[in-house]
Amino acid sequence: MKNRQIHLVKRPQGVVTTDCFALVEAEVPPLQDGQVLVQNLWLSLDPYMRGRMDDVKSYSAVQPLNAVMVGGTAGVVLDSKNPKYAIGDTVAGAFGWQEFGITDGTGQYGAPLRKVSDKIPLSAYLGVVGMPGVTAWHGLNKIIEPKAGETVVVTAASGAVGSVVGQLAKAKGAHVIGIAGGATKCAYVQGELGFDACIDYKAGDVGKALAEVAPKGVDGVFENVGGAIFDAILARMNAFGRIAVCGLISGYNGQAVPLQNVRSILTNRLKVQGFIVSDHLSEWPEALTELGGLVASGKLKYRESIAQGLESAPQAFIGLLKGDNFGKQLVKLV
Ligand code: NDP
Repeated sequence: MKNRQIHLVKRPQGVVTTDCFALVEAEVPPLQDGQVLVQNLWLSLDPYMRGRMDDVKSYSAVQPLNAVMVGGTAGVVLDSKNPKYAIGDTVAGAFGWQEFGITDGTGQYGAPLRKVSDKIPLSAYLGVVGMPGVTAWHGLNKIIEPKAGETVVVTAASGAVGSVVGQLAKAKGAHVIGIAGGATKCAYVQGELGFDACIDYKAGDVGKALAEVAPKGVDGVFENVGGAIFDAILARMNAFGRIAVCGLISGYNGQAVPLQNVRSILTNRLKVQGFIVSDHLSEWPEALTELGGLVASGKLKYRESIAQGLESAPQAFIGLLKGDNFGKQLVKLV
């Protein structure tokens, strides 16, 4: 059986280009005792992959050249020599950018291959009920800890993480302001997801817009973007505000804009906490149970951008890094 894979073959210099990737065909090896063969039906594309492509010290291992790109996947067990998994089981794992994967069931992102129920769509286990959902849950509940009536700002608000943050914060009684790129995304964030307001950062001065929609200032920030947008928020912080630094995507291709308003951290006695969701594996079961329940009951909405076929992954990934996606970016492999 042939397995199509996408390998990283060149490290990007700044903006990612399609020639960083190569489509490779490999044989699926015979299954050994204890192993499981999975057909990946969905591949998750995530901003963290850009960081892995650089050969620099970070919180995780560098993506090796001429190897399958790292990534979360969801699929179905095709064959099993492991008593914990049966043919036909649906599973979420981390087989990377390829159509099939083999594992003994342990050790993917430090977590075992996860059996998932068919009560919600399989693709959701890569988004709202997967790593991005838990990221939102952790940053909001463990760092921002919003109180009813406080103002919380969420950047990249229409995306996989941001859309969940805002809805959870609304459920806790916060006044929630999203920041997103473009009128269509903002209309979705406010109209569909129920944020109180959404600022289109491409349409004008974010600081001015923030002063209008958050006249009492900002108490909590879920920061996904960094750069000029983060700087504008820093200037509007209230005393003892909390900032969960989740991502800094505006600088991932190497053009990070330096912050001017760092003084706000001191004068407002802010808590600024960076975090990486995989450091908090013990919280995942609680978070996933809560998120799964909210999705099943229709209380937590989500949206997906779906690219078709493994070969479309490089272009879709390049698009994700500049906002072409609208909601969780996925690749449908079959
Ligand atoms: P999204 O679905 O939000 O997609 C990325 C979005 O980022 C784009 O749609 C775009 O939205 C926005 N964006 C891209 N470039 C810029 C820019 N230059 N300025 C402003 N916005 C930009 O991705 P995720 O929800 O998966 O990830 C969101 C953030 O969370 C990322 O920074 C990611 O690295 C981080 N993250 C961190 C984790 C952790 O453990 N700390 C775990 C998971 C994600 P728009 O069109 O609105 O600009």
